Formats: sequence, structure tokens, C-alpha cells
Amino acid sequence: MRILLVEDEYLIADAIKASLERQAHHVDWVKDGRSAQDALAADRFDLTVLDLGLPHKDGMDVLRDLRRSGDKTPVLILTARDAVQNRIEGLDLGADDYLAKPFDMDELVARCRALIRRSNQNADPVLKHGDVELDTASQSVRYKSQKIELPPLAYQTLQVLLERQGRVVSKNDLSATLYGWEPEAESNVIEVYISQIRKKTRNDLIRTIRGVGYIIDTETV
Ligand code: CA
Repeated sequence: MRILLVEDEYLIADAIKASLERQAHHVDWVKDGRSAQDALAADRFDLTVLDLGLPHKDGMDVLRDLRRSGDKTPVLILTARDAVQNRIEGLDLGADDYLAKPFDMDELVARCRALIRRSNQNADPVLKHGDVELDTASQSVRYKSQKIELPPLAYQTLQVLLERQGRVVSKNDLSATLYGWEPEAESNVIEVYISQIRKKTRNDLIRTIRGVGYIIDTETV
């Protein structure tokens, strides 16, 4: 999934970015409030991790303006340890969760996972389609109860399609989720990931909608 990280402290940001990337998320990082606002206006993110004390524009103001504009991107705010008032204000302004600094990196990662799941209305950490199962907690995929290995970006592609089951995901959307602002390696990489998934699972798991994108159809029971 694609996450916007807004944090002006380099050491903390580096640690957060590394932890989230180990969980197969793509992280785009900005260091001040105004850049955060621009990024959120221009791009779609699955989640924003927002520090409150930021240069140029306070995190609280970024959050307020985001919600006023009707944007529902899930937001996890990072607050100071004893700033209870900050947390209350943040939640009232539409933050979905908060963590007080200093926090445990595993907890941050778990909360991010839960927020993304909730926003996609998936209560279960295991995403399923027939005999294909993807466990977002252990980052493993099973086909017919057997563990299969997928390269990281193919895994992410499968996760996005399973999270948005029943909806067509455009190639541009997929590529933005996997690469964010980094230019993708080659224009046909998405096709490569799709074919890797098909080879390891079923050929008919993912349908290509020519010229539009890809879909995993909702299961008919
Ligand atoms: Ca700060």
C-alpha cells in the first residue's frame, strides 16, 4: 500500500520508512506541512502518518484542512508523550488513530496495517479469494493451502487487488501504489507482476480489462 509519511526529524523518519517498507508498503516522505498538503491534494494515499510539530504548517492544520476538503485518507498522528490535549484535538479533527512518541516500531506498523484494513472494510487480516489467501500480518501467500513465494512487488500487487476486490484497479493506480513518486523501472512491469501471480496461482484469478486495468472479481458463493 502507498503511505505518505510526514515527519521533519530525519532519524525517526528513516526508521519509520524502513519498517513500513519491510512490510511491503511504498513510503513517500515529506518533511514539512505545506509539502504534505500539496502531496495529499495531488495524489491518492492509502494512509498518512502525520507528525504534528512541523515546519511551515502545523500537522494539526494539515489535518483540519484535509478533512474540510472532504478527503477521507486514513490519518495516524504522532504526538508528544504527555500531550493529552493534542491527542484529543487530533481525534476530534478527524485523525483515525494516534501514537505518542517515543513509540515502538512494531506497534506503529501494526496500527498502520489495521487502519488500512479498516479503510478497505476488511476486518480480517487474511485476504481471501477462493483457494488464494494472503496474510497481511505475516506477509505470506497460500494457494490451495500451500505456501507460495512471490517477489515483493508481485505480493503488493496481489494485496492491492485483493483489498479492492470487485473493483477495477487501473494500471496507473497500481503503479502509483507500488512506486509513489519514484519512476517505475519499465512500462510493462505491472504485466510482469500480474503474470507472476497468475503462474503461482490460477490463471483466471485476475482479469485484465483491456486498456483500463485489472480486477479480482467478487466471489460468487
Ligand atoms: Ca516534528
